[in-house]
Amino acid sequence: MNKRLLNYVNESLEEERKNMALDELPFGTAQDIADGIPDDWRVTDLSDNTLVALADIVGEAQVLTSLEDRYAYCRDRLPYGLFRLRAGKLPATLPAAIVRPADAAELTAIVKLALRENIALIPFGAGSGVLGGTLPLNCEVIVDMKRMDRILALNEVDRTVTVQAGMNGGAFEEALRQRGYTSGHLPQSIHMSTVGGWAACRGAGQASSRYGKIEDILIGLKAVLANGQPLEVRPVARRAVGPSIKDMLVGSEGVFGFITEMTLRIWRLPEVEFGMVVAFPSLQAGFDAMRDIVQSELRPAVMRLYDALESQQRTADIPEFRQTPILCIMKFSGVRELAELERRLSLQHCETHGGRLTDPAPYHEWEETRYKSYSIKWQTEGYYMDTIEVTGSWSGIPAMYAEMSEAVHALHPEIHFGAHWSHIYAEGACQYMTLRLPPMDDATALALHRQAWDAVESICLRHGGSVAHHHGAGVFRNKWLRQELNTGMDLLQVLKDGIDPDNLLNPGKLGLRPAAGADTV
Ligand SMILES: Cc1cc2nc3c(=O)[nH]c(=O)nc-3n(C[C@H](O)[C@H](O)[C@H](O)COP(=O)(O)OP(=O)(O)OC[C@H]3O[C@@H](n4cnc5c(N)ncnc54)[C@H](O)[C@@H]3O)c2cc1C
Repeated sequence: MNKRLLNYVNESLEEERKNMALDELPFGTAQDIADGIPDDWRVTDLSDNTLVALADIVGEAQVLTSLEDRYAYCRDRLPYGLFRLRAGKLPATLPAAIVRPADAAELTAIVKLALRENIALIPFGAGSGVLGGTLPLNCEVIVDMKRMDRILALNEVDRTVTVQAGMNGGAFEEALRQRGYTSGHLPQSIHMSTVGGWAACRGAGQASSRYGKIEDILIGLKAVLANGQPLEVRPVARRAVGPSIKDMLVGSEGVFGFITEMTLRIWRLPEVEFGMVVAFPSLQAGFDAMRDIVQSELRPAVMRLYDALESQQRTADIPEFRQTPILCIMKFSGVRELAELERRLSLQHCETHGGRLTDPAPYHEWEETRYKSYSIKWQTEGYYMDTIEVTGSWSGIPAMYAEMSEAVHALHPEIHFGAHWSHIYAEGACQYMTLRLPPMDDATALALHRQAWDAVESICLRHGGSVAHHHGAGVFRNKWLRQELNTGMDLLQVLKDGIDPDNLLNPGKLGLRPAAGADTV
C-alpha cells in the first residue's frame, strides 16, 4: 500500500482532509483500495435486511457500504494505525458499514435496531483521535455524527451556547466569533475534530491555562445511551446531587452513549491579545517561573515551555538563545488593563528566575502554525512519529522528564525525543512529547515504538503522574488503565455492563472488556 492509499478519504471526511495539510499529497483512488485490501474484507457482513432497515431510518444515501468508504473510516489518527496502513495492513478491521444520522431521533432508532439485531456501533466524530478510539476491532458499524452540526441556541445573558455534537470545531468557533464570542477551547486539531469528540476525549485547547479543559467549559449535555435511553444533564453552573453524571459522559470515548448536544460556557472575544517570548538559562528556571506565575493567580491564556531540543528548533537564528537556550512563549488576552498587568507581573516572575524578554518571532511563528499538523508528512516519508502527553506535578516533572528522556534515547541512537510543557496548573503541567524513529524495517520500528511508550507511561506512573492529559485512552492506552485507575477501573466496567450488557457500544476501548474474537492493536 502506498501513500496515495494512506491518504484516501471519502467525501464526508473532506473537511478533515482540507485541514490535515494533505492538500499537496496525491489521493488514493478506488483502484488503490481495491488493490490493497485482502479478499476476505471486501464484502460487508451485514444482512440485506439490516441494510434496508438502516436505510429506512436515515435514507439510503446515508448508509455507506462501498469498500472505499469502509476503508476511509477504518482508521483515525493513531500513529500505529498509520504505520500499519503504509505497510499495506489495516490498523485493525474494516467497519461493516457507516451510517450517518441527521438527528437524535434517527440516532435513537439506529441504537434500538442495533440492540435488537446485536450489532456493535462506534460513535465517530471526525476521526482525529490519536489513540484508536474509533478503530473497528470487530467489523462494527461506524455512526458518523457530522450531520448533527448546528448551533441550537446562544444565550447572551447566561453566556452559554448549545451546539450539536457533530459540528466541526473550526466552524463552531468561527460562528461564535461572528457573534463576538469564543468557547475558549482551541485545540491544534480544531478544524479536523468535532465538538462532541472534544468532550468524548476530555480534550484540552491551547488556551486551557486560562479557560480550562473541556470538562471545565462544558456545563450540560444530551446523549443517547447505549441502552437506547435519552440522557439529559441540564446546564446549570454547579449542582450538589451526587457524583457528576455529566462527567460520566465526558471522557467516555463512546463506550456509554452518544453525546448529541452540548452546552458550553462562552466568553466575549478578548479586547486585546499579545504575545511574549522569554529565554531562560535552564529548564528548571522555566519550570520555576511558570509555577510561580500560576501560583500567583495570574492566568496567561497560553504558556509553553520547550526543552533544549525543541527550543533550539525554534530559535536557531536568535542570538539571545545562545546563552539562555530555553524558549518560553506566552500569550495574554482579555481586558487591556488586566492583560497588560498580567504580562508585566508574569515577566517579573520570569526575570526572578533569570528569564530574559526576547525576540517575539517564535510567538508569531507559533500563532501562524498553531492549527497545522505535519505528522502526515513524517508518516509519508517513512518516519515513525508519535506524540505522548502526560500530566506531572511540579515536584515530579524534572526527574520524570530526565528519566523518560534517558530511557527513550537508550532505545535507538537516532531516535528523536523532544518535549514541551503547556496546559499549566497550580499543581503541575502537561508534558507533551514528540517521538520519532528514522525509516527502518517495520518490525524493528514497531517494537521500539512500543518500548518507548512502555518507558514513558511506566516512568510517568512511577512519578505519580497521569498517563494521559488530553488525548484520551482509545485502545492504544488500554494497557495502562488498570494502573492509572486501580479499582476505579472496576467501577467503569460495572457501569459499562449495566448500561451495555451485550457490549455493543465501542467495545474494547477505554480499558474495558473487548468483544469476543475482536482484534487488538
Ligand atoms: C494533529 C492533531 C492535533 C491534535 N491536537 C489536540 C489538542 O490540541 N487537544 C486535544 O485535546 N486533542 C488533540 N488532538 C486529538 C483529537 O483531535 C481530539 O481527541 C479530538 O477531541 C477528537 O475529536 P474527533 O471529533 O475527531 O473524535 P473522533 O476521533 O472521531 O473520536 C474520538 C473518540 O470519541 C468518541 N466520540 C466521538 N464523537 C462522539 C460523540 N458525539 N459521542 C460519544 N462519543 C464520541 C469516539 O467513539 C472515539 O472513542 C489532536 C489530534 C491531531 C491529529
